[in-house]
Amino acid sequence: MNTTLIKPFLRTVFSPETTPFISAGFEYDSKEIATHGVQKHQAIDFDVPRGTTVYAPADGYYVATFGEVLLEDQADIPTLVSVQKARAGNPYSDELRPPAKNGEWPIWFGGLFIQGWHKNGMYTQYGHLDWVDVSIPYYPPSAHKTNLMYSEVLKIDPREYKKPEISVFLKAGTPIGRTGMTGMGWGPRSFDFAALKRDERPDFSTAQYTHYTSPHLHFAVFGPRDSNGEPTKYYDPFGVYGTLNDAYPKNLSDWKKSKNSLWK
Ligand SMILES: [Zn+2]
Repeated sequence: MNTTLIKPFLRTVFSPETTPFISAGFEYDSKEIATHGVQKHQAIDFDVPRGTTVYAPADGYYVATFGEVLLEDQADIPTLVSVQKARAGNPYSDELRPPAKNGEWPIWFGGLFIQGWHKNGMYTQYGHLDWVDVSIPYYPPSAHKTNLMYSEVLKIDPREYKKPEISVFLKAGTPIGRTGMTGMGWGPRSFDFAALKRDERPDFSTAQYTHYTSPHLHFAVFGPRDSNGEPTKYYDPFGVYGTLNDAYPKNLSDWKKSKNSLWK
């Protein structure tokens, strides 16, 4: 059972004027499994317009980094998307794409991410952002061929993250970033369309890049990392542990109502 003994500790990540739609629940449905090649989402996707402000839902220590890797199958062969399918995914960004090789493009996965460390060993992550607040330290990715790997700061020893030279402490309710669709495109990497700011942080707020038509915030909650730096347990903040077709609340005001909700 995926029940939780963690006390509710999250305030909303959006302003009361925002009406997010949960477009992917904690579990992937069959269509999403086929797209992503993995069985579990272990996060919640909130569809919101690009540029929607994201707020820290809990007091914590925050950092940001970027990653973007080629989507590959288990034999490390890049998964390609046909011109036809890509256009169905987003018909609006043809001019951004280089000519397709054999009518196909590579697919990228990742994006601009924030991670927060909170009380009781809890972590949060915020993905596919367009912009991260300048108060949050940014850690550039490391390059492996064309892949950009997230900074290892995400896996830092829990005794280290509170150091002011590593992270910034923010109170719940502080704006931390703006939503986008980075790391969810094809053809060229989204990273190559970014304006690079101070400390090399990418800013996508005015950038056009290839992406699917559903900008969203990927929001993950997990418990302490193990000795390999992998999360020991992921939590559905709503306590539903279902696909998008299950009983996820539609209204922001209902987020705290489900039995094992982590929303305060
Ligand atoms: Zn997601």
